[in-house]
Amino acid sequence: MISISSVNPTAAAAAAATAATSAAVPSIQPQRRQQLLFLSPPQHHHSRRCLTVRAIDAAQPYDYEAQLNQRFTQSTRLRIAIVGFGNFGQFLAKTFIRQGHTVYAFSRSNYSSIAQSMGAVYFSDVHDLCENHPDVILLCTSILSTEQVLKSLPLQRLRRNTLFVDVLSVKEFPKNIFLQVLPTHFDILCTHPMFGPESGKYSWQDLPFVYDKVRIGDEDSRLKRVDNFLDIFKKEGCRMVEMSCSKHDRYAAGSQFITHTMGRILEKLELEDTPINTRGYETLLDLVENTSSDSFDLYYGLFMYNKNAMEQIERLDLAFEALKKELFGHIHEVLRKQLFGKSEEGGAQKPILAKLPKNNNGTPLLPSPSESVSSRGDGGGNGR
Ligand code: NAP
Repeated sequence: MISISSVNPTAAAAAAATAATSAAVPSIQPQRRQQLLFLSPPQHHHSRRCLTVRAIDAAQPYDYEAQLNQRFTQSTRLRIAIVGFGNFGQFLAKTFIRQGHTVYAFSRSNYSSIAQSMGAVYFSDVHDLCENHPDVILLCTSILSTEQVLKSLPLQRLRRNTLFVDVLSVKEFPKNIFLQVLPTHFDILCTHPMFGPESGKYSWQDLPFVYDKVRIGDEDSRLKRVDNFLDIFKKEGCRMVEMSCSKHDRYAAGSQFITHTMGRILEKLELEDTPINTRGYETLLDLVENTSSDSFDLYYGLFMYNKNAMEQIERLDLAFEALKKELFGHIHEVLRKQLFGKSEEGGAQKPILAKLPKNNNGTPLLPSPSESVSSRGDGGGNGR
């Protein structure tokens, strides 16, 4: 019998993890259990003895995968690696941890103390993260950096059939990148939690969670793993919406992108909090606060990586032009009536232009638009 510590000092840690695997799989022979210890992450060791043990295992290449698969079907707890531990990654991590899942985190910046404070394990080297064989890699990076980040992951260090999930606010783009970059033995789930640290601050109850099972292997363990992941959001009360990525992008451009655009336009207006805020106005102030707390990268990503966004910008432009036309058309109408009175209707009377006060050059002084509009006498608002 080979002792673990004689092969690799780090194997002691691996042994603890594997002990759980072994306990969950009582049918494994003691000798086989011992072999499994050496296949558990991390696998940095290169001693001859270790290679011998690996060679024995090579005769049964699917055993280790099979044991792990069995573990997944038995446990609903997941080891979720969050890549991109910024605003949104941290927000999700809190709920994952509260529900008892293990969170590994990796990011471009160093978030080790934040991760530690919330009970996540931070890795400053993505190779180490992958060698810990998480069940799920959850991509929480900016839309703009997604492709670069995904291509920089050492996929060869992950367990075969690891589940890849993204949370990007656009969906066709990550789906295509995942399908292009990830080998076919990895599972792919594209999701969009339609809420964020502001709107989901107190609860996720009834907030929409969109997902598309893009590519999931048909083994029970893999189907179960996806369900376990989706259950996190179900348990929080999210409204689960299964929808294709392309359909999501069409709806999101007409709803979410418009919302963000209006929020950013209003932000530029520098709206003030007044002592006579109506409810409608309060809603606008909230909108500004919600959208401005998101990064500009996020907003730019919604525009650049959703093919439907440009059309929405154009529609918005046209709608504003049409509205201005309608408004100014009304003013024009009022002015005409004031200037020409009933002369246009009956044709009998003279234009009232002659009756208007004149300036020094003898040009008639027109009433200002505000004077004309005030003739409506309704205060101009509906109180909403
Ligand atoms: P974000 O600005 O979209 O993304 C910030 C994250 O991206 C950080 O983790 C950042 O890492 C990483 N990142 C940015 N540029 C990078 C680069 N060049 N290389 C490597 N990493 C890079 O803000 P976010 O709010 O955290 O959103 C993250 C993702 O969640 C986005 O895809 C977004 O669409 C999605 N999402 C956000 C919300 C929301 O309400 N915020 C809601 C639903 C979905 P560092 O911090 O380490 O620099």
